[in-house]
Amino acid sequence: MYAEIKDELAATLTEIRDAGLWKDERRLTTAQSAHIATSSGDALNFCANNYLGLADHPEVVAAARDSLQEWGFGMASVRFICGTQAQHAALEAELSRFLGTEDTILYSSCFDANGGVFEVLFGEGDAIISDELNHASLIDGIRLCKAARFRYRNADMADLRAQLVAAAAAGARRVVVVTDGVFSMDGSYAPLPQICDLAEEFGALVMVDDSHAVGFIGPTGAGTPELFGVRDRVDIVGGTLGKALGGASGGYIASHREVVSLLRQRSRPYLFSNAVAPSVVAGSRTALRLAHDSSEGRERLRANASLFRSLMSDAGFELLPGEHPIVPVMFRGDDGARLASQIADAMLAEGVYVIAFSYPVVPKGAARIRVQLSAAHSEADIRACVTAFVAGRDSVVGHDSVVSSESGASA
Ligand SMILES: *Cc1c(COP(=O)(O)O)cnc(C)c1O
Repeated sequence: MYAEIKDELAATLTEIRDAGLWKDERRLTTAQSAHIATSSGDALNFCANNYLGLADHPEVVAAARDSLQEWGFGMASVRFICGTQAQHAALEAELSRFLGTEDTILYSSCFDANGGVFEVLFGEGDAIISDELNHASLIDGIRLCKAARFRYRNADMADLRAQLVAAAAAGARRVVVVTDGVFSMDGSYAPLPQICDLAEEFGALVMVDDSHAVGFIGPTGAGTPELFGVRDRVDIVGGTLGKALGGASGGYIASHREVVSLLRQRSRPYLFSNAVAPSVVAGSRTALRLAHDSSEGRERLRANASLFRSLMSDAGFELLPGEHPIVPVMFRGDDGARLASQIADAMLAEGVYVIAFSYPVVPKGAARIRVQLSAAHSEADIRACVTAFVAGRDSVVGHDSVVSSESGASA
């Protein structure tokens, strides 16, 4: 039986390779950090979600290590049987306080949180209106429920209005607008005040997945609802502990008390999957405290992103505008995908780790190298990254002004 399937699978694998979509994994031989090493040498890391540099922070590591003595290694249970320690509840309370919500429920990942939230709250007769650039986990979670699905063009408020009208015309009972707080390929924000205005006009709920914002965006790091001053107008906030907040694993839904209570009763990834490991809970609590208690990391991150953006613009690269530490360096046109991937390869050979993205991950003609800044980067690291960009461009395109037109940078 397997013989036939084997050939089909091999053919699919070949198709993936031929389409240039093969994903290789580089094996780090160090902790996740601004400075990493792989078997091919040392590298400066500009492609992790380690925004605050907490992934190997000594206090986070110490908290996780010390917790092993007190709380053991694993929970060996789902939460509602015997998988909840006092520290799980404490982390949930601390997240609620940080985010300004009534309650919070932890999941093993934000992917699981998004997989478990929609089916519980929305069913037949309801409508979910989702931004076209939303994260894969939102798309999958929405597919798991029986509500009608509507999709609007990225951050396009006229289209969102049209979809709200369509949902109302279809007689939808509960309606929710769902968006990422930050779109990860662009580093752009969802226009939350306008989304909240429209949702209120149409009697819809608002859900924001703030995975690329929690801990470092907004005056106290509480994310995009705080940045835009709409914390009390957003009904459901999801996020991850796997990025800025220590980067280990875990996700959450923070919301009204009844929403969280119902999720604890009915949400399948919560009910039927193991509790977050004790050391991860302990380390995440410390990461959250560090993010909350000190604005230093946030300020360093903001300064780093701003320095990188200005040095790169000065060097003639086209960046998508913004202020988020996700900085897309654009290579437009037919040749953009090749340029972006060759420049990223050249940079890696020089010890600067960045990743190129092209169609179908981003639109055709909008290839890019996505750079992610961290508070752990020094000014020297950032200058080294810019130098590597310039050298990579020179080596791939040559030294003349062809660069500007081919890369799309304005002449
Ligand atoms: C990274 C990310 C997730 C997944 O988070 P995990 O905790 O790693 O599963 C979900 N949603 C968004 C918007 C993300 O950026």
